[in-house]
Amino acid sequence: MKSANVKDYIRTIVDFPHEGIMFRDVTTLFSDPRGFRMTIDQLLHPYAGEKIDKVVGLEARGFIIGGAIAHQLTLGFVPIRKKGKLPGATLSEAYQLEYGEAVMEIHDDAIQPGEKVLVVDDLLATGGTAAAGIKLIERLGGEIVGCAFIVDLPELGGRKVLEDLGMDVHVLCE
Ligand code: 5GP
Repeated sequence: MKSANVKDYIRTIVDFPHEGIMFRDVTTLFSDPRGFRMTIDQLLHPYAGEKIDKVVGLEARGFIIGGAIAHQLTLGFVPIRKKGKLPGATLSEAYQLEYGEAVMEIHDDAIQPGEKVLVVDDLLATGGTAAAGIKLIERLGGEIVGCAFIVDLPELGGRKVLEDLGMDVHVLCE
């Protein structure tokens, strides 16, 4: 593909993972060399010249873009994972899902107080996952420079949830 618009590389899978869900599949964006390069460049663009100490990626697709961004900026990368996946001592933060609850975790020594952190994930929906991640980083004393996503689903209100937490939100497409 030759498009300069990341949206053109994302495909929609109908009824995944449940009936009635239109899943925005970014694997087609990641598998295209131009698409992936554009994604990383555009996610980084607003932060040029900003002091950042660490990149935090949210499981699982946030690891793919977060790793590439950290490498590009020569920074360390920190994962925030679903409960029970991190081997060391962790902090946990629960958040509400449509049915039930989920828990995200971070290693309790992954961020030092005062470190400047960039948070990344592929997609912002209700904002629950990112809000849990933000709380974990702030509990460790990290200062969040921004939260960057490839896709925002505006009808689900995630941007407002994060802005109400005082976050600067950057998205590439809706
Ligand atoms: P939220 O917590 O904002 O409701 O949901 C966002 C999280 O769910 C992100 O970690 C994101 O990867 C995942 N997610 C939810 N819906 C989709 C989707 O349609 N496409 C992709 N790629 N991820 C999704």
